[in-house]
Amino acid sequence: MTNPDHAVWMDVLSYMNTNHPDKCRQWFNDLQPLGTHAGVLSVRTISDVHNRYLQRNCTESFSEALQAVSGRLLSVRFLGPDEMGEIAITPTRIPPVPSHNGTEASTNERVEPADVLPPSARIPRPVHRASLRDTVSRSEYNDSLVINPDYTFENFVEGPENRLALAASRAVAEAPGTAYNPLFIHGGVGLGKSHLLQAICLRLLDRKPEPRIHYVSCEAFSTEFFHAVEANRMNDFRHRFRDVDVLVIDDIHFLAERERTQEEFFHTFNALYQNSRQIVLSSDAAPHEIPHLEARLVSRFLSGLVVDVKSPTYETRVQIAKRKAKIRGLDLEDDVACYIASKVTTNIREIEGAITKIQMQHLADKKPVSIELARTALDQSITELKPEVTISGIIDAVVDHYGIKLTELQSKRRQKSIARPRQVCMYLARRHTRYSLEEIGGYFGGRDHTTVMHAVRTIEAKRDQDSELDRVLGALERQLAPKN
Ligand code: ADP
Ligand code: MG
Repeated sequence: MTNPDHAVWMDVLSYMNTNHPDKCRQWFNDLQPLGTHAGVLSVRTISDVHNRYLQRNCTESFSEALQAVSGRLLSVRFLGPDEMGEIAITPTRIPPVPSHNGTEASTNERVEPADVLPPSARIPRPVHRASLRDTVSRSEYNDSLVINPDYTFENFVEGPENRLALAASRAVAEAPGTAYNPLFIHGGVGLGKSHLLQAICLRLLDRKPEPRIHYVSCEAFSTEFFHAVEANRMNDFRHRFRDVDVLVIDDIHFLAERERTQEEFFHTFNALYQNSRQIVLSSDAAPHEIPHLEARLVSRFLSGLVVDVKSPTYETRVQIAKRKAKIRGLDLEDDVACYIASKVTTNIREIEGAITKIQMQHLADKKPVSIELARTALDQSITELKPEVTISGIIDAVVDHYGIKLTELQSKRRQKSIARPRQVCMYLARRHTRYSLEEIGGYFGGRDHTTVMHAVRTIEAKRDQDSELDRVLGALERQLAPKN
């Protein structure tokens, strides 16, 4: 790009910093704008992983930024490191932006991103670290989950609660198919399971030759399986899942209750295992605690290494806050990181939310990030929060809606007219409070955590299919946490 184009790109990055601080990453500085053709600005990324991540998560906000700074209806298209010249970039100019008094601004005042260098003068391609497309076929590439380039081992903070899981993940990434097979990581929501799975993939993609990796959600496995059965294309399906060096499946607990998918997964597992191909799985519970999981699968899962991740300690949370801020280009002082760690105690995802609020406050106040600023940002957001949802609030709402009694909810009775409202209570409590599965189970008639898990999944699945139930749940949720 010419210098004025470079200025436009700098404006785009600055717009992103101001308006989408949560999306901004330090590595955005490595993006290379190539030029504009037919209203599309092409931007080269440093790896296919980065490319897919940006395409999925940032295309809209970058296009919005480009439109805002150029005043034109332009959009942004990200390209992988190997995608070169299909875009015929022409040095044509798009009409200049009208100035505020209605006349056209001279191109000396403002040069559009369309003012690009001819193709021969394009920037050389950067060295890239990973080419997903080289390792997996086109269809796999489309079905695979998008890997977050920030979910590396380097960005994962080690603590006593995840030490074993981290060590095992590193070992698997160093020697796939030999160290621990399968590797099964389990734990609660937001404790870093997907991060570790992706760190394994990212590290493996650094190997030469790159292993063939298939990283999918359990949902995708099931959906693809059903499509393959319907279309009578089981050979394709088996090729996709068995002709790989490493199969990584996130949230495998969703296999439960799907008999045919479990059967197919069992054969997939055996085929890979017998050929010493690595299998990595994550789940919200240990294998033997996943309700309705076939015994033969439980025993397969237990035959490798089963490790858990627990809630992070205060010290780990402080380091995570610092690391997450750094990824966004923000250096947090120790006192600010400690303050965040003391405010966010359970789900680590909330640490990122806290950092976003602090960034917003920093932009609004135009003051350095200090403990005072952090306090203002987080305390404000706490008062802005909807009133806290309590179990008794949930019970009141459910009892009222279904016309049953609290004693019935807490009883052992299993008839549908009581079991369904009880499941709804468990679902709402799990979704909107911080109580553990055990605590919720204990409250509703001394049931164990697998019953609660089963209830939550049942309602989740039914909510997707049953619009009436969805309406009722929506109304209950609004009642519990009204929006101002
Ligand atoms: P899970 O899959 O267990 O629900 P994720 O892997 O999606 O959780 O993690 C949620 C967020 O918390 C992600 O942004 C992840 O990077 C972050 N996270 C969790 N544990 C750690 C850790 N030990 N170090 C750094 N980040 C972490
Ligand atoms: Mg996850």
